[in-house]
Amino acid sequence: MREEEDLDPRCGKPRWACVCDRVTPLRPRTRVVILQHPQEDDVVLGTARIVTTAIASAKIIVGLSWASLDAALGETVDRNRWSSVYAHKIPEGAADRNGAVVMDRHGELTNAPRPQGIVLLDGTWSQAKTLWWRNPWLLKLGRIALVPKQPGIYGKLRQEPRRDHVSTLEAVGGALTGLGEDPKIEAELNKLMRTMVQRARDHGFDPRKKTTPVQRRPTKE
Ligand SMILES: [Zn+2]
Repeated sequence: MREEEDLDPRCGKPRWACVCDRVTPLRPRTRVVILQHPQEDDVVLGTARIVTTAIASAKIIVGLSWASLDAALGETVDRNRWSSVYAHKIPEGAADRNGAVVMDRHGELTNAPRPQGIVLLDGTWSQAKTLWWRNPWLLKLGRIALVPKQPGIYGKLRQEPRRDHVSTLEAVGGALTGLGEDPKIEAELNKLMRTMVQRARDHGFDPRKKTTPVQRRPTKE
């Protein structure tokens, strides 16, 4: 077994990829919940824990399926006021609002009030699809699709494209801006991710060659 690398306890990343020193606390009004596939094990480039480091109220829930949104959250919420952020089909001719298309649960454009919370699926494209199909209650939530204006921040650092070719962090930021939150939240999140990618490059991290030993993710809180 390889010697354990020194992992930052807040974000779980090796110290050379950690950007916790750059975090300023962000406080969106919309709750953020990230359902994470159990096999998502991207200690170095994963972005979900950057989100939860910056947004104290955001939550990562690891698993494959839950009976309902309430079961996933461990509390009772009004699911009519929650939306999923996913590669949803966008109605023909729909114009996006600041990079996001906000729809009701039937996929129709809506001007309904801002949802209380958003649910994102974290993992590779196929892991996200698995989460989607294993949790039919997601179909009962409102829908948010992203229409990214710029190429994803990962660039060539990521081997397997993620859904919409954006990271979970970029999806959180894009959805929040689309819902009318302060665009500074998205800008701040993206800045953290760019710093993380830069630090990984500076360290010589190459995901193709796996020059950096892959570590087990520490147990999440
Ligand atoms: Zn850190």
